[in-house]
Amino acid sequence: MKSSANILLIYTGGTIGMVKDFETGALKAFNFDELLQNIPELKLLEHHIDTLSFERPIDSSNMNPSYWLQIAEIIDEKYEAYDGFVILHGSDTMSYSASALSFMFENLSKPVIFTGSQLPIGDLRTDAKENLITSIQIAGLQKNGKPVISEVGVYFEYKLYRGNRTSKINAEHFQAFASPNYPPLVNSGVHLAVNDAYLWQPNHRRKMKLHRGLNDEIALIKIFPGINRSLLEHILAKEGLKGVILETYGSGNAPTQDWFVQLLKKTIATGVVIVNVTQCTGGSVAMGQYETSTQLKKIGIVSGKDITTEAAVAKMMYLLAKELSPKVFRTIFETSLRGEMS
Ligand code: ASP
Repeated sequence: MKSSANILLIYTGGTIGMVKDFETGALKAFNFDELLQNIPELKLLEHHIDTLSFERPIDSSNMNPSYWLQIAEIIDEKYEAYDGFVILHGSDTMSYSASALSFMFENLSKPVIFTGSQLPIGDLRTDAKENLITSIQIAGLQKNGKPVISEVGVYFEYKLYRGNRTSKINAEHFQAFASPNYPPLVNSGVHLAVNDAYLWQPNHRRKMKLHRGLNDEIALIKIFPGINRSLLEHILAKEGLKGVILETYGSGNAPTQDWFVQLLKKTIATGVVIVNVTQCTGGSVAMGQYETSTQLKKIGIVSGKDITTEAAVAKMMYLLAKELSPKVFRTIFETSLRGEMS
């Protein structure tokens, strides 16, 4: 067991490094060096840590695909030089970013751990120190000279989850994330308990490949009782639209009204792909289980199975950039690529 690893810590922004604006009282990102000064404990860790910061740290509500590429390029460039990567990121869009990076990195064989906090690191009651220190320790875990974690994870409040299985579920509790359809990869107690059976098993003979393309010509539509027909018609008629994620009820159910089904059918006929994901926090789409989902299956809607909406957005952007035929898109979307669906 190698005890010391080389870790690259990348600061993108988020509450973890924020301070209160003197005049308005609102939280805003601050200087990375000040952040490091607030964690003298980092020097006590057995790992070698290098740090890198966004030139202008952001609140993660401003996250977008070009920032994803920026983070991914840093990791790609430094991939051989480090054993693991820890990304400090706001919690608001952390699940989207972790999902996006999971698809962008094919054959990842090193840990990329996202973490952040609900309270700034300078706050007396902060959750930032535990999150950051344990994330670094998890990123540094090695067995037989190889990293224990070989995937993109989200570490928050004593749990490491597979990143593309997470959602932010609470804006108040320190336990801000959940992974309803997949168990935690690591539980942090007195010891770090690694859930070996659930870890991603990389193929070490394959070289890591960064996929840079992401297509954002997509729409995310959550259906609700009374959803307006002309609004839907407008959205689906948008020029250049390539894909739609439809958040449906329960196990993938939607209204059976003729106008609704015909509109989706017409949209699919123009080459737009539509993926069915559930509005429920846990469980899976199973088209055909109810009459209210049978017609969706018939018209060629893709099943998102038990994928999270966050991972569906990332997977759709990733696959649309490959310009696949709708048939191939469907086959690949319905296949687990990075452990994002069962
Ligand atoms: N608004 C913050 C962000 O996502 C919240 C956080 O960091 O937890 O950047």
